[in-house]
Amino acid sequence: KELQVAIDGPASAGKSTVAKKVASRFQYIYCDTGAMYRTVTLKAMQTNVALDDAAALATMLTDTTIEFKPGTPEQLVFLDGEEVTMAIRQPDVTNNVSTVAAQGTVREDLTNRQREIAAAGGIVMDGRDIGTSVLPDAEVKIFMIASVEERAQRRFKDNAQKGISTPIDVLRQEIETRDHKDSTRAISPLTQAADAVLLDTTSLSIDQVVDKISEIIEQ
Ligand code: C5P
Repeated sequence: KELQVAIDGPASAGKSTVAKKVASRFQYIYCDTGAMYRTVTLKAMQTNVALDDAAALATMLTDTTIEFKPGTPEQLVFLDGEEVTMAIRQPDVTNNVSTVAAQGTVREDLTNRQREIAAAGGIVMDGRDIGTSVLPDAEVKIFMIASVEERAQRRFKDNAQKGISTPIDVLRQEIETRDHKDSTRAISPLTQAADAVLLDTTSLSIDQVVDKISEIIEQ
């Protein structure tokens, strides 16, 4: 059976790395919903739409396409036909995305798009509100956490490979600020679904986490 797998959790907990591997193991589609919020944020910044103007963002979205296409090592993201895979990972987008993601009009629009993508099943979707709001009936729900120290260190190592050298204290602060905003917003805040399995990955390897989730899917 082709299941819906929802993976939620705070920033930099390893959701997307793990979700991609789980999807490829089961030949499911992978959908990175954070990339969708990032893409909307990038477009608003590029077109000077105020990041907290819910109505203007809604209007912008009526005329916005977001597409994923296969690519190595990662999926490619397209905004209105232009590739934005790297652009949506820039620090200014990262630091602004929670403001855009707090707007109800944006959440409603992207939630509809996400439900369409997931409708047929055979999907691993990661984000903040997948198990609670986007796919409340998903057969498998995982809430993935790790200590903030561990998450800052993982981000630091990731960055080092890309030649970025943001100090670890700054990374820790950015992670905490974003988690706070995502957990305290009024609409679909980051929270563990009642029926989600809590997975603390602080002292687990990527493969160990992938194996645990695979076991749950196969049950
Ligand atoms: O997963 P990622 O860190 O790329 O997500 C970027 C941001 O998008 C989050 O910090 C959050 O503000 C927003 N987001 C959300 N709901 C989701 C996925 C992401 O609000 N399902």
